[in-house]
Formats: sequence, structure tokens, C-alpha cells
Amino acid sequence: MFLKYKNNWLLFNQKKPCVLCRQTTENPDAICSGCAADLPWLTLCCNRCALPLNSTPEHPTLCPDCLKKPPPFTQIIAPFEYRFPIDQMILQAKFNNRSYLLPPLAYLLADKLKQSMTEHSRIPDLIVAVPLHPSRLLERQYNQSAILAKIVAQQLNIPLSNNLLIKQNKTPHQASLDHKTRQKNLKDSFRCLSTPPTSVAIIDDVVTTAATATEISRLLLRKGCQNVDVWAIARTGKELFF
Ligand SMILES: [Zn+2]
Ligand SMILES: [Zn+2]
Repeated sequence: MFLKYKNNWLLFNQKKPCVLCRQTTENPDAICSGCAADLPWLTLCCNRCALPLNSTPEHPTLCPDCLKKPPPFTQIIAPFEYRFPIDQMILQAKFNNRSYLLPPLAYLLADKLKQSMTEHSRIPDLIVAVPLHPSRLLERQYNQSAILAKIVAQQLNIPLSNNLLIKQNKTPHQASLDHKTRQKNLKDSFRCLSTPPTSVAIIDDVVTTAATATEISRLLLRKGCQNVDVWAIARTGKELFF
């Protein structure tokens, strides 16, 4: 009898080590509260595109780019600035096969979204991950945004679709390209396979120039969607475009 339940008991009492400091933690997101407090939380940012801002500007809190030309998406929400150790975690997760680093970040993103939803009460009908080109997916074996999207959708109880969008053109890695080149590269590289619902949230790992977010938002709006939100783990500052 005891033996039968012994393993289950061990399973329930298992403490996960923090993915950053390896100390045991009972947090389900596997980042201990000490490490979480030291993360580069994004606090002051553009209300629309989440660009980190140095000072508190007057209302409305918009960056000069969004004031000049409003983007097609309604709002980008990201809990972190793309700085250490978040940048390293994302790079390791994407290019070094360490996908176990993604769930802790997804839980922290979901927490931030729960908070923002109570403030703004805009709940999308559907969550969609930024798709990878099939050959990139084959190379990496997983889509980092899809891993994030699955956890966020479960946490927020919002439907998730893995087949609304596809990436039809293989584009070069966006690193080292400026905003205009990124936007040009991405033009018509995504396809929307069916009619989207009224409100969609796109999940990406990092928003750098917002070229991907802009391209997918335009596509969804063209297909009849009324509102596109963009949710990401991290947002780069202007000086950090890479
Ligand atoms: Zn820790
Ligand atoms: Zn902005």
C-alpha cells in the first residue's frame, strides 16, 4: 500500500530548483522570488509599443514614433526589458536547445497579463504564436513562441490556435538588420489561413523593432480582425536594436 503511493507522494512534494540560481523553490514558475526581484522588469515604457522610456513623459505616455505614426496593433505588453539575464535566457532557449528556460518566463508573462487585464478588461478571443518557417522549425525542433503561447493560453483560459497563421517565406535572421530592412524582408512572409476572430493576441519571444508584430497585425486587420494585441517576454530599447 505504502509503496503504491510512495512515488506519487514524492511527485507532489517535489521542489523545483530555480532556473537561475539552482536553489530550491516552491514557485510553480521555477524562478525564486530573490531572482525574480532582480530581473529587468519593464516599468516605464510607451503605452502603445512598450518601448522603454527613460523619463516619465506627459500624458499620454507614447513614444515619438507612435505619436507620429500609430502602429497597427493596439498595444504591446512585455514584462521585461531585453537585458541580462532575460536576453541570455531567451538566446539559450532559442539557439542552444534550452527550451526549459521558456516556461518560467511564460508564467511571469501570464502574471503580468492577468494584472493588465483587470486594469483594461480587454480579453482577446484567440491567442496565436508567431509561426516559424517549416524549415526553421525542423532545424530548431520547437517554436519558442508556441511554447510560451500554450502556457499563457492555459493560464488565462483563452483559446489558442496553431493553424491560423503560417510563415510561408523563409526570411534571414533579423539580427543585424535595421527596422526598414526587417519590415521589407517580412512583407507577405506570413499567411492567414482562415478568418480571424474580432480580437487576437499574438505571442512572440522578443519585440525588437516591432517589424514582425506590425506585419502580422496588418495581415490580421486586413482579414477582418478588429483588434490585435502583442504579448512578448521582452522588449528591446532603441539603443539595443541588434
Ligand atoms: Zn533563484
Ligand atoms: Zn511607442
